[in-house]
Amino acid sequence: MELRSHQQEILSQLLAKQHVYGFLPTGSGKSLCYQIPARDWGWRVLVVSPLVALIEDQVRAAEKLQIKVARIHSALPERDREREMSSIFDHDTRLIFISPERFVQWSENPNKQNLLRSFSLLALDELHCAFDWEDFRGSYAALAKPIQNFASWGLLLGLSGSLSAVQAESFFAKSNLSVKLVLRALGRENLQQFILDLENESERSLLLAALLREVETPSTAIVYCSSRVSAENTKIFLSSLGLKADVFHAGLPAQTRMQRVEDFRSGRLRIVCASNAFGMGIDYPAVDRVIHLGMPYDINSYWQGIGRAGRDGRSASGFVLWCRSDALRLHSMTSSAQNRAKKLWALFLREECRKISLAKYFGLPQEPCWACDVCWRKKNFSLPRFLPDPHFWLYRRQWWLKSRMDTEAWLEEYFISS
Ligand SMILES: [Zn+2]
Repeated sequence: MELRSHQQEILSQLLAKQHVYGFLPTGSGKSLCYQIPARDWGWRVLVVSPLVALIEDQVRAAEKLQIKVARIHSALPERDREREMSSIFDHDTRLIFISPERFVQWSENPNKQNLLRSFSLLALDELHCAFDWEDFRGSYAALAKPIQNFASWGLLLGLSGSLSAVQAESFFAKSNLSVKLVLRALGRENLQQFILDLENESERSLLLAALLREVETPSTAIVYCSSRVSAENTKIFLSSLGLKADVFHAGLPAQTRMQRVEDFRSGRLRIVCASNAFGMGIDYPAVDRVIHLGMPYDINSYWQGIGRAGRDGRSASGFVLWCRSDALRLHSMTSSAQNRAKKLWALFLREECRKISLAKYFGLPQEPCWACDVCWRKKNFSLPRFLPDPHFWLYRRQWWLKSRMDTEAWLEEYFISS
């Protein structure tokens, strides 16, 4: 098997007994970094993974590589649970997948200590969840002590495609550990980024409609909405224009959510108005447009969101359509969420190539842009062909408005006065 350079580097760091954090974008072969120690080195590897759907995907991938696997999660039927539990104690089972909650439970249970000691490597997959979910999934905060414990005999491997180097270091510092960073460039040259500052809701709707009319079968689009109500209203608005769309959010019954995912996957549903959770951990290769209707929560969730477009390598685009009224939402956030949101706003308001500013934020090498709104403006003021004509004018007006007003000063004032 031909390994890519970043995979080789991670594996050689592990062989040199170093804890590692790997920033690897989706599609760059993250899972191979724990599959190889399990398959080729005979290590027992415990993988902490945040979502059932993700665990099931990972189990299938490992089984294809002939690795003996077990998993324990809340959605397992009772009869399978017993089989999986006994398989965990079998030394030939090399890869075991569990949730962060279960890892914390095991660490606190004296009867599970020998089991934990049978693992040489603890892989923390999708490590950005430690930051994205800190307000509602406390298990990640509770990981510090168990991780420190584990490090007294085993190695740690953190993996993510949207957690900055600084955040990863601070996560491991809570367990008094230092990690070797292996950072791969952002990549995704096929993905264009547009962050558009709009005057009001009606401009936002106008642009949304125009962008979605451009989506052609069999391509698909995800519209991320800030609330359930907004998702439902967006669906109604799109239906009134003759665009077939449906919603996905936590308020729907599990069965309906599963059905929507299936419809989207199979192409029966082309436009989904969704909450943040849609698409997480599941590969949809043919999404060609991701639109954030309003400001995303923070930089990580922005990058996660637009990163779902263009996974098949075709040209794709990620949009943020934001208005200043989006700032009202900041009031209802906790202070840590507010801090993360402020970083995002500051990043978006900067007149700097979107790709370069993201790379800086993640602590990655800077790269030339593939195409973003700032670069388009700076180069020649002409827009990519897929932006419909009337919006050239709308867009240019926004640019003028924006250049006239010192938006950063406005933001500063807003945060001080609120
Ligand atoms: Zn750029």
